[in-house]
Amino acid sequence: MELDQAFRSAALRPTAQRYAVLEFLAGHPVHATAEEIFRAVNRDDPRASRATVYNNLRSLAKAGLVREVMSEGKAARFDANLRRHHHFICERCGAVEDISWFDLPPSAGRVALGGRDVSNYEIVFRGACEGCRDAQPEQGAK
Ligand SMILES: [Zn+2]
Ligand SMILES: [Zn+2]
Repeated sequence: MELDQAFRSAALRPTAQRYAVLEFLAGHPVHATAEEIFRAVNRDDPRASRATVYNNLRSLAKAGLVREVMSEGKAARFDANLRRHHHFICERCGAVEDISWFDLPPSAGRVALGGRDVSNYEIVFRGACEGCRDAQPEQGAK
């Protein structure tokens, strides 16, 4: 099973609750918030407390199995899509969508980055998702 292998390669002990958190995130690629993850795990295991679910989420993030997606000013969202990808944030409905990975040309940003050694990057696009774009409001925006 893919999740077992993920735990093994991250050398993180796969406790039942960590497993449940990762399984939920992997099965729901909607970039859930910690609160949504807690509610989902708690539904299956009512003894799960908010504190332990949040702690397990942090352990998973530290081990690199879960990534925190940038979301300025709003609750952090979490991502178990471990393949490299970019993100698109809808400014109207707040959806955070995965965008298939594409490389920037190697020369991009070279001058601006100077001597910094870049190990990773991702692009966050913003705008209107397909659903919101097609739902143009009839009256002018306020
Ligand atoms: Zn939208
Ligand atoms: Zn993502």
